[in-house]
Amino acid sequence: MGEVISPVSGKSLGEVASTSVADVDAAIGRAAAAFQRWRAVAPGDRARLLRRFAAEVDAHREELALLEVRNAGHTIGNARWEAGNVRDVLDYYAGAPERLTGHQIPVPGGLDVTFHEPLGVVGVIVPWNFPMPIAGWGFAPALAAGNTVVLKPAELTPLTALRLAELARDAGLPEDVFTVLPGAGSVVGERFVTHPAVRKICFTGSTEVGTRIMAGAAGQVKRVTLELGGKSANVVFADADLDKAAATAPSAVFDNAGQDCCARSRILVQRQVYDRFLELLEPAVRAFRVEDPARETAEMGPLISAAHRDRVAGYVDGAPVAYTGSRPDGPGFWYAPTVLLAESPADRHWREEIFGPVVSVLPFDDEADAIRLANDTEYGLSGSIWTRDVGRAVRVARAVEAGNLSVNSHSSVRYWTPFGGMKRSGLGRELGPDALHAFTDVKNVFIGTEE
Ligand code: NAP
Ligand code: MG
Repeated sequence: MGEVISPVSGKSLGEVASTSVADVDAAIGRAAAAFQRWRAVAPGDRARLLRRFAAEVDAHREELALLEVRNAGHTIGNARWEAGNVRDVLDYYAGAPERLTGHQIPVPGGLDVTFHEPLGVVGVIVPWNFPMPIAGWGFAPALAAGNTVVLKPAELTPLTALRLAELARDAGLPEDVFTVLPGAGSVVGERFVTHPAVRKICFTGSTEVGTRIMAGAAGQVKRVTLELGGKSANVVFADADLDKAAATAPSAVFDNAGQDCCARSRILVQRQVYDRFLELLEPAVRAFRVEDPARETAEMGPLISAAHRDRVAGYVDGAPVAYTGSRPDGPGFWYAPTVLLAESPADRHWREEIFGPVVSVLPFDDEADAIRLANDTEYGLSGSIWTRDVGRAVRVARAVEAGNLSVNSHSSVRYWTPFGGMKRSGLGRELGPDALHAFTDVKNVFIGTEE
């Protein structure tokens, strides 16, 4: 059994059974059997079931959101968006089954056609930072493409995934098509990697575990999609709308208490506006509302656990603090938004993913310097560029090695555009029109027509 703790109160929310290896094997066996039936469901019927699943999620959006406020400490506003995102991703990929078309390729002596065949059982491994959206980005396209899914939520945050599995059943999804298996990464997650009937792993989490999963999957040439860490740059040029850049920088890194792989946790500011930017940033950081995440006004809740809070604090110890925001007293794993001044790009807080409400600021000289510093990281997930010069915006956006960039905005994820990382931030893309193909293999069939 695993105890689930509320990060808001520090108190227990109850226990969730941990799935044993034997039970994981049995569930994978049932999912493999269900695959043969699920792939044979007519495309329009599969689409209808996914739309019904989306409607169930929509009907229970507030309940799911409140569950996430309690289990993960997310603000109620964010949690509503997250439940709505699961609905939207299901609706979006519900449009896919009838549109999963292949090619007809001209060949002599016959007819050549391609099929996008489902893979079989897909294992989705979800972290604690965005339990609902990340689950949906895996299971919705996987199911739409005709796969069955076994899903392991993070031990810290299993409650919404377990509820989503009930909603899928209520929507009429056949038995064993979508199974949620709570438990430890080292047990349930590892078994997804080693079990030969699991044909693909869709993993989101740390670069360390993701690297191990990729190595483990190699033995079976098992497909992987990896969404890993980040240390994204927010690059502010002297010609930018500085007021807007400074006003929006806090939410770009402190949203979800900084527990976001896309957090713009390195702010690069052109030297001639560095002091002015820091002056403008201060009131925005101090005004950031850190409070009970159930309140409608909350902009940030607590960190996920006491251990994680200690880890985050370890990065701030001894580092030069420019200023901090506020945090409530009392129980819960609170940490105040914190702005650190980087002395050099070698600083530990500049280089490593902190995954908390801590941002580092460093000056740069010119465009080439900004690009060099932005790319001086093993990661490449996201980033923002602030400038009024259109040519520069395009040049820098093309030069920064990251999968998701925004200009004069900190664009969040959209379910209909691709999302994923370069370098050690990941492999493959989720969401958008192409993600479906990450859950299929192309089959080429030649039909001879000669007499
Ligand atoms: P993690 O250890 O990579 O965990 C992510 C998921 O993988 C969890 O469900 C975890 O299970 C599971 N897992 C752990 N070890 C496994 C293994 N050997 N085989 C298969 N699955 C395994 O990440 P974390 O501990 O939650 O966070 C550590 C750091 O990772 C964070 O501080 C942050 O830097 C980064 N992170 C990044 C993202 C992202 O969105 N890119 C998300 C979360 C974390 P358990 O429930 O047992 O842990
Ligand atoms: Mg871990």
